[in-house]
Amino acid sequence: MKRILTLILVFFTFTSFNAFSQDKTTSNSESDSVAIVYYIKDITPENVLKLYKALGVDYKGKTGVKIHFGEDGNKNFLNPELTRPLMQYTKATWVETNVLYVGKRRFTDTHIKLAKEHGFTFAPIDILDSEAEAEYSTKGMGFKHYKKIKYGSHFDNYDNFIIYSHFKGHGSAGFGGAIKNLAMGFASPGGKMAQHASDVPVISDASKCIKCSNCINNCPANALSFVEGVITIDKDKCIGCAKCIAECPKRIIKPEYKELEENVFLERLVEYACMFTRKKPMVFINVLANISSSCDCSARAPLPFTQDIGILASKDIVAIEQASHDLVAKGHKCEDAFLKESGVSGLGQIEYAQKLGMGTRKYKLVELK
Ligand code: SF4
Ligand code: SF4
Repeated sequence: MKRILTLILVFFTFTSFNAFSQDKTTSNSESDSVAIVYYIKDITPENVLKLYKALGVDYKGKTGVKIHFGEDGNKNFLNPELTRPLMQYTKATWVETNVLYVGKRRFTDTHIKLAKEHGFTFAPIDILDSEAEAEYSTKGMGFKHYKKIKYGSHFDNYDNFIIYSHFKGHGSAGFGGAIKNLAMGFASPGGKMAQHASDVPVISDASKCIKCSNCINNCPANALSFVEGVITIDKDKCIGCAKCIAECPKRIIKPEYKELEENVFLERLVEYACMFTRKKPMVFINVLANISSSCDCSARAPLPFTQDIGILASKDIVAIEQASHDLVAKGHKCEDAFLKESGVSGLGQIEYAQKLGMGTRKYKLVELK
C-alpha cells in the first residue's frame, strides 16, 4: 500500500512540475523559438474571454486582472464592459496602483471612486499600494539600471495575473502595451518616480512654500526639514517614496525629470516589467482600439490616428508586443506608426525585453473566429 501511495505521489509531483515548467518555457521563450499569438478582429466582451480560454492556462486561486481605469477626462480608455465575461469566468479582481502625479488617481479612495464613475462596477478593485510599498532586490537579474524594484505590496497576495492592456501611443515610451502596463502598473509611486526620473524629488519653487509642514509630517525617512527657514530635502536620507509630492498643497515638490539618453527610459520600464514576470505566472491580452499617440493617463488624449484592429492574447510578452506593433504599423502603412505620429519609437522596449530573456520577437499569429 505504502509503495502504491509513493508511486501516486511521484506521478502527481512529476506531472504538476511538468505543467509548470512547460508554462514557464512558453512565457520566457528563447530568442530562436516562435511564440503563439492569438488574434480576433472583432472587439467584443465574448472574444476577450475566448482569447483567454485559447491560452489554456485556466488560472486557479487568486487572480488579478491588471487594468487601467482611465484618467479623469480621458475618453480613450477601454470600455470596462469588454472585461465582464472574463471577470465573471475567472472571478478575478481588477488591480491597479496609485499614480505619481497629483489627481484623483493619486489616492486610493478617489482612485476607486473614479474607476466606478468610469463603469468599473461589477468586480472587486484592489489598489495594490493602498497599504504599503514593498521592494524586490534585482541581484542576479542582469539589470543595468536598478538594484531594487519598488511595488505595491498587495502584488504578493495574488497567485497569477492577466495583464489586460490597451495598446496605444505613449509620449515617452513610443507605445504603451503590456510591458508598460506591468512596469508602471505594478510599481508604487516611488517605483514610478524611479522609472520616470531620479529617486529623489526636488523643491521646484521654495518661495511658494506656505510652511504647512505636510511634507515633513508625512515623510517616512525624516528627509524633509526647514533649513534656515527654507524647505529642504536631505538627499542622503530620502528613500524615494514620493509621498511628499502628493502631500504638498502648493504642488512645489516634483519628480526631477532628467534628460535621459535614448532608450534609457524604455530600458527602465522593461527592467520593472521583467521583475514582475519573474515573480508570478501571467498571461497577456492586448486590445488594439482607440489608438492615439497618447496614453490613458492624459486628461485630453488626441483622437485615434488609425482604425481599431482587434484583440491579441499570448503567454509571451515580447511576442504580443511585437505582433501588436506590427499590426498597428501595417494598418498605418508604415514601419513604425508611433515614431511617425509622436516622433518616439518604442521598439527599444521590445528589443531590450528579448535581451533580458522575457520572450521572443518571433511569433505566429493564429486568427480565431
Ligand atoms: S520622497 Fe519620500 S522619503 Fe523622500 S523626501 Fe519625499 S516623503 Fe521623504
Ligand atoms: S507641503 Fe509644500 S507647502 Fe507645505 S511645507 Fe512642504 S513644501 Fe511647503
